[in-house]
Amino acid sequence: MRHPLFALLVFLAIPSTGFSSELSRKQLDSLETFYRDLHENPELSGEETRTAAKVAGEFRKLGLETEENIGGHGVVGVLRNGPGPVILVRSELDALPVTEETGLSYRSKTEGKMHACGHDFHAAVLVGTAQQMKQELGDWRGTLLFVAQPAEEVVKGAKAMLADSRFRKLPKPAYALALHSSGNLRKGAVGASPGFVLAASDGFSVTFNGKGTHGASPELGNDPFIQAAEFVLKLQIILGREKEAGEPAVISVGSIHGGTKANIIPPDVKLQLTLRTYDPELRERLRKRIREVAFGIARTAGAPEPEVELHPGADPTYNDPALEARLMKALRLKLGAENVVDSHPWMASEDFGQFGRAFEIPSFFFMVGERNEKDPSISNHSPRFAPDFPGTAPLAIRAMVSALLELAPAGGKP
Ligand SMILES: [Zn+2]
Ligand SMILES: [Zn+2]
Repeated sequence: MRHPLFALLVFLAIPSTGFSSELSRKQLDSLETFYRDLHENPELSGEETRTAAKVAGEFRKLGLETEENIGGHGVVGVLRNGPGPVILVRSELDALPVTEETGLSYRSKTEGKMHACGHDFHAAVLVGTAQQMKQELGDWRGTLLFVAQPAEEVVKGAKAMLADSRFRKLPKPAYALALHSSGNLRKGAVGASPGFVLAASDGFSVTFNGKGTHGASPELGNDPFIQAAEFVLKLQIILGREKEAGEPAVISVGSIHGGTKANIIPPDVKLQLTLRTYDPELRERLRKRIREVAFGIARTAGAPEPEVELHPGADPTYNDPALEARLMKALRLKLGAENVVDSHPWMASEDFGQFGRAFEIPSFFFMVGERNEKDPSISNHSPRFAPDFPGTAPLAIRAMVSALLELAPAGGKP
């Protein structure tokens, strides 16, 4: 919206997909109004009452069988169109605790809450995809489950929806698909890669205990800062020396707190860190090593034992290689090869992978470009990030519709 001419050029640059009916300008305008309304009214993870009701309202308008309050504020719209594969398409609903700085006319009305990850965009694209699939009933066969998931940013929503017995009563999907806007990918492009695309994430809280004393007489106490400093460095040494160079893993300490004053050695120091991995075996090994290293450092320091708490987070997101190859080929054909790129995996996390794992089905997660060329640091989770709806939503919808038509063609096997 910030660059109307650019948006128009992106729109015109995308070749027609040859579908029997595409969304009209009027439908896209009304979807944008829907998107702007979600953007102005962000709700944090677990509080998505209004957003969920809005999405459910759109599903009902389309005549989808609509279930609400699944695993919290989860919504599922079911579109049945004869015998054929069951395909799950997922969007998120939640916003982030961020104060918006975009300056947009439709910016968040609530200080400290913002759709800074594009989940409002994904929800509108989900509705747009449902609208177009409803318009094109003659072009495909099967059943579509449009899933609007709450609490993604705290990686709890997917598990909660799957744990709800009403979700399990729906037709069992054969594929799971999702898209995400990406500040790392140029506008006008969609991108994906095979295999692991997003990382498993684990949090740790670590408290090093020592013995507090006067800062001028450290020999009388046991300085917990020394343990913390050694720990922070040793974590990076583990990554550099204890795994194969080609195995991706990140450990970042994001918080260190201890003490009150320059000349007092405090009794303890608290740290928080995140561990990101793809490989489950490496994940387990690094979880164990973080604990061992913390205890080893404390023992060597002659200090009391540390407290090490693991907070297990998301499992990795995995693109089934055969499905990825099939859908990328279809996307290149429908969207133009120049608009579909092989993107890089990322160490960020998502809980979309839970759907594929729960049903033991192949899943596919792709990115929709939203890079700010003037300042690429304005990316997902930035207070200045906002998708360019008129420029990129038509492409996002076409991409998802193309993937669905590839998997559930009319005349395909039931
Ligand atoms: Zn996010
Ligand atoms: Zn997100």
